[in-house]
Amino acid sequence: MLCEFCGGETKKKSVKRQHWLNKKLYIVEDVNAEVCTECGERYFHAKTLDAIDDYLSKKHTVKAHIDVEIVSFSQAVA
Ligand SMILES: [Zn+2]
Repeated sequence: MLCEFCGGETKKKSVKRQHWLNKKLYIVEDVNAEVCTECGERYFHAKTLDAIDDYLSKKHTVKAHIDVEIVSFSQAVA
């Protein structure tokens, strides 16, 4: 497909995705996406996103846990 932002060519790639579900953040590895070879924009199939929701809703294996910082960028540019 062609990138909506820059018109570049996209390629199928397996990527790592930050995925929110029920106010919880998950990092999901090995997700199929179309990635723009020009600007790096990633496109996910609605079917893929549904499948991730489904997978995370059920019993699944957790590879690791990480600490995530939440910061406000507004202070950085003040
Ligand atoms: Zn692009």
